Amino acid sequence: MSARENLETVRAAIAAAEAGANRKEGAVRLVAVSKTKPAEEITPVIEAGQRVFGENRVQEAQSKWPDLKAGTDGIELHLIGPLQSNKTADAVALFDVIQTVDREKIAREISKEIRKQDKHPLLYVQVNTGSEPQKAGIEPDEAAAFIALCRSELGLTISGLMCIPPVDENPGPHFALLGKLARENGIETLSMGMSDDFDTAIGFGATEVRVGSAIFGAR
Ligand SMILES: *Cc1c(COP(=O)(O)O)cnc(C)c1O
Repeated sequence: MSARENLETVRAAIAAAEAGANRKEGAVRLVAVSKTKPAEEITPVIEAGQRVFGENRVQEAQSKWPDLKAGTDGIELHLIGPLQSNKTADAVALFDVIQTVDREKIAREISKEIRKQDKHPLLYVQVNTGSEPQKAGIEPDEAAAFIALCRSELGLTISGLMCIPPVDENPGPHFALLGKLARENGIETLSMGMSDDFDTAIGFGATEVRVGSAIFGAR
């Protein structure tokens, strides 16, 4: 199957999951995760109408996306991988959405760059719902205080939450926890669900799903 055909299949599955969960048609946005894929493989997906893409590395995104963005109106690029502080200026310059705000140091750097560049990417906080030591993200019980710090002290607008559940667990409870934290903190965007579990995530209220291999094939 081509990426184009896969895209149609994923779109149909999203629509079916929306209907199955009594969600409004179009309630869920698809972020097509193009990490590791060369521009030649991304272009057909853009031509098929997809505009929202996710990348997990700043440097890789810098090598592909300025040209791809210049070629098409309305591209929206999301950073979905961990951000290092020495890459913050580049990330603020290139990305429309940074989904991985996960610690005070990075939040401070982002705040500084937003003021310096007068560029305003949407910001999501990544939550480590499984409290996995190797995984990025703020601990669930520290999320409220961190979001409050970002908002009041650093003047950041936090509009979303993002999580990556542990691979070996039922993702449902993790999606439910992210939804609860979003409600408690007045946040509307829920970025959760990947190729293997986006339909489950939609049942738990995902407003954005991040789908890579189901569109572009194995990495
Ligand atoms: C790679 C990645 C995805 C996409 O994963 P697939 O299983 O290929 O759909 C989603 N979110 C994040 C944060 C990723 O790094």
